[in-house]
Amino acid sequence: MAAENSEGPTVGFIGLGRMGGPMARHLVAAGFTVQGFDLSDEALERHRAAGGLAADSPAAAAHDATYVITMLNTDEALQTVVEDPGGLLEVLQPPQVLIDMSTSRVGTIRRLAQRLAERGVPLLDAPVTGGAQGAQAGTLDVMAGGDPAVFERCRPLFAAIGRKATYVGPIGSGLLAKYVNQIVMAATFCAAAEGLALAASGGADPGKVYEAISSGLAASPLLDTSVKAIFSRSYGQGAELSLYHKDAAYALAAASDLKAWLPITAQVHEAFNLAMRAGFGSGAGSGVAQVWEQIMDIQLQPVPQEQHD
Ligand code: NAD
Repeated sequence: MAAENSEGPTVGFIGLGRMGGPMARHLVAAGFTVQGFDLSDEALERHRAAGGLAADSPAAAAHDATYVITMLNTDEALQTVVEDPGGLLEVLQPPQVLIDMSTSRVGTIRRLAQRLAERGVPLLDAPVTGGAQGAQAGTLDVMAGGDPAVFERCRPLFAAIGRKATYVGPIGSGLLAKYVNQIVMAATFCAAAEGLALAASGGADPGKVYEAISSGLAASPLLDTSVKAIFSRSYGQGAELSLYHKDAAYALAAASDLKAWLPITAQVHEAFNLAMRAGFGSGAGSGVAQVWEQIMDIQLQPVPQEQHD
């Protein structure tokens, strides 16, 4: 277990996966003592190799930590780590702060915030964008909800792992901002696929169609990355499709609670349901285009030059 540190403040870090592993490494490099916990021995070993300390439970990771960060793959995992017997809810006490940096459910975060407040412990929701590449490079963008004074206290942590931290509003607001990011991205993946499918089914060359529109106002780095992935059939880069599927579901659940109208997200989620069912979940989000290819039995590919001649 963790030894007392002689460096900067101690951080308990739970969830050392693709995102959490490199984030914890940046905290170590910035001088924090980082007591990490993960169910995976390999993740713990990597954390140790990067100069972190390995704890054997969430409670042990939180022991004597000024800040405790969770970076877990599912909302269910967050609930387990916080609320299960022996979990964080039993051990955290003021002036400790819990910061959930996962993309969780707003409803869960608000409930946990209430339960922790009964112990006098503040919770921030502080999800990130920038993907695994941004986590490795330390260039994540953080968007946070909760008490603004607590957010200010946590700024040094955010500065160590990212390039920008934005306070968005009360608890749950960071997640709402993250959902907006995910809705825009997932809808763009679907719009690219749908547009190219329309062009291809009418006999237009998808490659030429994209060439024609790629310098106008519809152009964006996101659209460009998506279309290049579709044309090269390489879905190995970028956040996994399964994460967009999860996040659209969380956005729809929040919309149901808030009575908000999300017709585009609902349709996008339907397409991602099919993509998950077809086994595309571990590829990049732009791989949802394969659903259009399968349903319409078409190829979203540029027509080779010789066929134009
Ligand atoms: P991941 O699956 O790579 O890592 C999650 C880690 O949590 C794993 O190492 C797993 O062993 C650990 N874990 C699961 N349950 C646990 C438990 N009960 N106790 C301790 N450890 C446990 O996931 P990730 O890609 O790092 O994503 C983490 C969060 O970040 C998700 O909410 C995701 O939506 C969000 N996110 C991911 C990306 C991305 O590109 N991967 C980008 C932005 C945000």
